[in-house]
Amino acid sequence: MKALGVFPNEKKLAIVDHPAPSIEAPTQVKFKTLEVGVCGTDKEIAHHLHGVPPEGDDYLILHHEALGEVTEVGDAVEGFEVGDLVVPTVRRPCGDPECTACAEGRQDFCFTGKFTERGIVGAHGFFAEECVDEARFLVKIPKELRDVGVLVEPLTIAEKALLQVWDIQERLPWAAKRAREAGTAPKLKALVLGAGPIGLLGAMVLAENGFDVHVYSLEDVDSPRGKLVRDVGGTYHSAKDEDVKALWKKIGDVDLVYEATGASGLSFRVLELLGHNAIFIFTGVPGRKEPIELDAATIMRNLVLENHVLLGTVNAGPDAFHAAVKDLASFKEKWPQTFETLISGRYPMEEYAGLLSGEVGGIKNIITIGG
Ligand SMILES: [Zn+2]
Ligand SMILES: [Zn+2]
Repeated sequence: MKALGVFPNEKKLAIVDHPAPSIEAPTQVKFKTLEVGVCGTDKEIAHHLHGVPPEGDDYLILHHEALGEVTEVGDAVEGFEVGDLVVPTVRRPCGDPECTACAEGRQDFCFTGKFTERGIVGAHGFFAEECVDEARFLVKIPKELRDVGVLVEPLTIAEKALLQVWDIQERLPWAAKRAREAGTAPKLKALVLGAGPIGLLGAMVLAENGFDVHVYSLEDVDSPRGKLVRDVGGTYHSAKDEDVKALWKKIGDVDLVYEATGASGLSFRVLELLGHNAIFIFTGVPGRKEPIELDAATIMRNLVLENHVLLGTVNAGPDAFHAAVKDLASFKEKWPQTFETLISGRYPMEEYAGLLSGEVGGIKNIITIGG
């Protein structure tokens, strides 16, 4: 079958003829890949910045954001049928019996770092005509989400963050779960840094969950990204019009910052501004850059005196995947037009090179594998 291989030693990227996988345990499910999403991580792997093939292989099959259709089900599998749509999770447990996180099925919190990630490190990804995986690593999605299901995986980043935010905010009695459910908790203000796919999906999740959402990014206020933010009830602010200090003055203290830029300079400038009881969530992974100057004493003093929480988050557990499926269905109903902006194009698999080099622009590009 056709698959897209990254060869780290030869520094090459090519469609390869890879042996089609078959079900090898009764707990497994086989699916044909319908689509994969292109993200920053894929581009970095395609540029050989990271990415590790499975042991013994000289290439890694790329891509971790996927939508598939089940073609065969192992005898011991329950809850999946041929024809079901599935989204695979990405990270696989390290297998170390001492790792309590992986033993709990929460490899997103793995202690050993010896996990594998499909399409990223030590395990093949989903740019392949067929894939096999353990049923417990697959999430079934409703047929109505066929056209947007490939966004489930990138959406889980915001979902995992928000699930943790609710737990963290249990520290504030007036914002705690009961008050939230009763609708008596005050509306929280969120600032999203960056309007890439992670930032925009984050803004949508926060809007869906009742936040007053502000997005700050490089593009013009009148850009499609700005319009998308307004379409979901948020406010878009352009870095071209104001620096972040001026923005802060204008919108007032925020309860939550959701960083989706990977830009350390901007992030730490915002950290210096953080107000009462705020949570700062980091999701971006910056490349190695020159050191930046920052006012560490102010940050540290404010952290203590203002009860700040700094939260880094990576990958996602099954709860976040299920929340993503639920929220996507809701987004589709409430804001169907946003997907026309969010999904900037669907391309045949032969066009991988331009999509991974960054030559083809847009917000979120999708590669069609099967149909
Ligand atoms: Zn991704
Ligand atoms: Zn582990």
